[in-house]
Amino acid sequence: MDRDGFVSACLHGRFCLYNSSMSIADNITVIRERLLKAAARVGRNPDSITLMAVSKTVEAERIQEAYAAGLRVFGENRVQEYGDKATALSGMKEAEWHLIGHLQSNKAKKAAELFQAVDSVDSLRLAEKLNQAAEQAAKVLSVLIEIKVSAEESKAGIPVDSPELEELLRAAPNLIHLQVRGLMTVPPFTEDAEGARPYFRMLRDLRDRIAARQWPRIQMDVLSMGMSHDFAVAIEEGSTCVRVGTAIFGSRPKPAA
Ligand SMILES: *Cc1c(COP(=O)(O)O)cnc(C)c1O
Repeated sequence: MDRDGFVSACLHGRFCLYNSSMSIADNITVIRERLLKAAARVGRNPDSITLMAVSKTVEAERIQEAYAAGLRVFGENRVQEYGDKATALSGMKEAEWHLIGHLQSNKAKKAAELFQAVDSVDSLRLAEKLNQAAEQAAKVLSVLIEIKVSAEESKAGIPVDSPELEELLRAAPNLIHLQVRGLMTVPPFTEDAEGARPYFRMLRDLRDRIAARQWPRIQMDVLSMGMSHDFAVAIEEGSTCVRVGTAIFGSRPKPAA
């Protein structure tokens, strides 16, 4: 249980508080209350925190329910999947679509056309491809740099304080069709949400150090961290965007093995 008394093991579907008798709108109400409480605990303005609905694997109709409940920022993991759903979702005029999953360079063009933001930029090569693609699409794409905060092999992202990160920060001011807005991370999963706290701190600390260097054209306003089971801890550690899927839409089908 976390400190609000919520069972935080929804990912495993064992004791899921966000059960099927609750509607998407009910789930969002519960999450908003927890978001407000977490912000209040650390004296933060809740308006500085975006609740992103992670709608990967969720069908269009249910995504529209989240929109009707007031959410405006949506995260999808795969270019192809969102491409297939985009027409059905085109009625959500005020929605902002972010790509939050790993992007292969060869899909940069499609991604730049479909999304307003790519929150998972994890190499200079990808940033260069996206910059070209955004130029062709005549737009400026918002991007976050995805940071790998743990040694876990399975996690994407650029290591903290690595030469690769330095290289990307140096190049970014010249990639004028990209606007770097901040950092994103996915910490290692721990049963107890508290386990993520040191990783969230690490990301905030890195953000502060990059911001202090005042790179031209690089903004460091956004800290995208925190998911269904640990978003309250992430807010306490300074998150400005929590990416919540399961707690809004219920558990996802297991990916095929
Ligand atoms: C799926 C996903 C989320 C949402 O995870 P939940 O645990 O369902 O809230 C957040 N961020 C990324 C990058 C994801 O892939």
